[in-house]
Amino acid sequence: MGERIFIGVAWPYADGPLHLGHIAGVYLPSDIFARYHRTKGDEVLMVSGSDQHGTPITIKAEQEGKKPEEIVNQYHQQFLDSWQKLGISFDLFTRTGTANHAEVSHNFFLTLLNKGYIYKATGSQPFCPHCQRFLSDRYIEGTCPYCHFSGARGDQCDGCGKPITPAELIDPGCKLCGTTPQFKDSEHFFFRLSAFQDRLSAWVSEQSRWRPNVYNLTNRYLKEGLRDRAITRDIEWGVTVPLDGFERKRLYVWFEAVIGYLSATKEWAKSSGDEGKWRCYWQDDEAKSYYFIGKDNIPFHTLIWPAMLMGYGGLNLPYDVPANEFLTIEGRKLSTSRNWAVWLPDYLSRYDPDPLRYLLSISMPETGDTDFSWREFVRRNNDELVATYGNLVNRVLTFVYKNFDGCVPTYEDMGAINVAPLDGRDNDLINKSLAAFNHIGGLLSQCHFKQALRMAMTVAQETNRYLEEKSPWKAIKDDKQAAATSLYVALGIISYLRTMLYPFLPFSSQKLHQYLGFEGSVEDDGWQPRFPSPGQKLLPPEPLFSKLDEGLIEEEVSRVGHVEHNL
Ligand SMILES: [Zn+2]
Ligand SMILES: [Zn+2]
Repeated sequence: MGERIFIGVAWPYADGPLHLGHIAGVYLPSDIFARYHRTKGDEVLMVSGSDQHGTPITIKAEQEGKKPEEIVNQYHQQFLDSWQKLGISFDLFTRTGTANHAEVSHNFFLTLLNKGYIYKATGSQPFCPHCQRFLSDRYIEGTCPYCHFSGARGDQCDGCGKPITPAELIDPGCKLCGTTPQFKDSEHFFFRLSAFQDRLSAWVSEQSRWRPNVYNLTNRYLKEGLRDRAITRDIEWGVTVPLDGFERKRLYVWFEAVIGYLSATKEWAKSSGDEGKWRCYWQDDEAKSYYFIGKDNIPFHTLIWPAMLMGYGGLNLPYDVPANEFLTIEGRKLSTSRNWAVWLPDYLSRYDPDPLRYLLSISMPETGDTDFSWREFVRRNNDELVATYGNLVNRVLTFVYKNFDGCVPTYEDMGAINVAPLDGRDNDLINKSLAAFNHIGGLLSQCHFKQALRMAMTVAQETNRYLEEKSPWKAIKDDKQAAATSLYVALGIISYLRTMLYPFLPFSSQKLHQYLGFEGSVEDDGWQPRFPSPGQKLLPPEPLFSKLDEGLIEEEVSRVGHVEHNL
């Protein structure tokens, strides 16, 4: 019996396209993790969806003369298309606009209200007299009271990462027109986060597996003391408040979007035909919940969502929150408002998915920010994917296909590969590769993706060295058996690589799986180091990757900042 793994992935905001920062930070690591566990035979549920509420979408809709639904539908479709092309394997990618999500959010709200964790209070809300609207926290900007960063938003400061409230900002201004907002009294509901200070402190102190950045940041907030937060807003686009007298208010998007992890699980269970199945991921102590998010989302997933879950009662708390740091682009901070980004749909319209998955994995911002550059993209593709791995696979498969009747080499004594015909060098390569295989599994289960991929690539390098020494291309002329043995060993290690690299490079691994003559999918074959059987029929091989022209570097760099992304 395997493990049961719930994977909650940050909900992308449906007001713009995905960029490489989202992919390196959140979607690729969660997908690698899910694919590894599925291959291992674990029960995996990976969910997310479009976060479709909040003021930015209503403002964008107004600016474009559209309805918010149109904006949201357009990006939701685009997200689904991107997941499919990049191979991000959600079990369910839904949206926060479903009736199911509203129902689960209402239930969550009312339960917390009945338990006294939500209370009503009159708070002063920023109102822009020029725009004639209440401003959501993100639409008010000013100077951070803690670090004096000048572009702090009303919900959070990007300078120091601290969550803040609009009233705390120094020199606040409406983000749309710059007018100084007035603070008007409005009745709202608040979540009693302060009541969870002790329980959260005790729980956080037990989380030894969290990454240091996640643990330290969480502790910093705890030490500063948790404050209650408003969970309703004066807007009309969003999940309604399930009480009379609040028809013109909506649940605040931070509150309902995190509930999406639970509502998505319920939706998945309903569509699977077993409505109660959500419980096995949320109420079974054995199930582990992982949340893949960017570093700007840490306090919401290590403090606020856990407090909401504690308040609700009987639901699993996060097991791990492997938040990544940020990706810079060509050495500069990624900025969607300044259009300094590489947009995913644009990339996918011109290049294959696996080279991007490779680059973003091998330089994943796990413990610090990392940079994406087109030069590095071309170099890693050509020197590593093509030269180290792709050529190894292609050279061996093509040679075997030609010289051994399209089959895995076999001869009388080869029934048990680990005995007589293998020499010390053969066994040395096999043993090292087996050790790497096992080690990679351990690294993947601990979310050390970069290190896992690097280790797999050293196996490819070792195999290239082995073939240089054995030189079956020459040996075949006077000792076919020796050539057969070393090619058999090489095919076996290539078969290990097919599995080891599958979580990172699913498209090329599946192709390789077929070239090697295996049936079905890599995932069905399982997380096991497996040699193809002697005599197994191969498929005519094609190169797994192609070399990229260095000329594209300059062309692509000059496109950054100039690609129309408002599709
Ligand atoms: Zn304004
Ligand atoms: Zn600050």
